[in-house]
Amino acid sequence: MRDPELELEAELEDLMTVLAESDLESEAEVFAPSVTTASGGPIFEVACAGCAAGQCVACPDGLCAACPVHGGGCRAVLRQAVIEAIKLARNAADKVDAAISVEPGKRGKDAKETARLFQFFFCHDPSLVIPWAGGPSGVTVAHRLRAVAGELDGGRRILFECRTDAGCNAFTIVGVHSTIFLCPPFWAEIPLRGLPNVDRRAGTIIHEMLHNLYDVNDFLTGANPTPRRFDAHCYEAFVLRVNGFGADPFDVQACGQRACDMRI
Ligand SMILES: [Zn+2]
Repeated sequence: MRDPELELEAELEDLMTVLAESDLESEAEVFAPSVTTASGGPIFEVACAGCAAGQCVACPDGLCAACPVHGGGCRAVLRQAVIEAIKLARNAADKVDAAISVEPGKRGKDAKETARLFQFFFCHDPSLVIPWAGGPSGVTVAHRLRAVAGELDGGRRILFECRTDAGCNAFTIVGVHSTIFLCPPFWAEIPLRGLPNVDRRAGTIIHEMLHNLYDVNDFLTGANPTPRRFDAHCYEAFVLRVNGFGADPFDVQACGQRACDMRI
């Protein structure tokens, strides 16, 4: 029997062929939002065409597509994914905190696995101090994931807008901080290894919320590419894997194309 975990990681390792300097300092300026402790439950609207009555709001820009969910039940599918995203993000943050609460040599089995996955996706141990962030790398990663969970859990009202755009699961627009645009594959039933669709959708929502909260830019290439700790694909894959799920191979691949920063 093939081991999906080893396969995914072998796949990533194959892709990690380019090692170059990247600019982690760029993170410092945008690492600002504080963690919202809201837990009133998700507050969101859906702007789609073709949802069952009462599920959708009017399309704000005239560009909405039909929500391609069976029976028009867009709100229910989305709500389930948001609730799952909150759970996955908080659980991942707790695991990172647990891993950095003890010396690396004294970690138990679970903390060791968390650190291994962290190292794999972010290229260093979660206890590594990032000088400009004023503490261990894991602290900022956990903080960001908790902020995502808090904002999804009633911290802000989020608009989900269905679009027909090809080639994406979802996207955000720079400077628009409370809207997530959903592309057709988000709604599809995709048979990914070890990854139920509700968790795949949850991972996508976490990814897009990182864009909304931190203007994470996971598209920079060339001389000054996006560092791993600032690439939403790396967070998405890490969160899913640390929660025991498979990751979307696309995210693993996108993260793997990022060089490990060699200065830290
Ligand atoms: Zn992205």
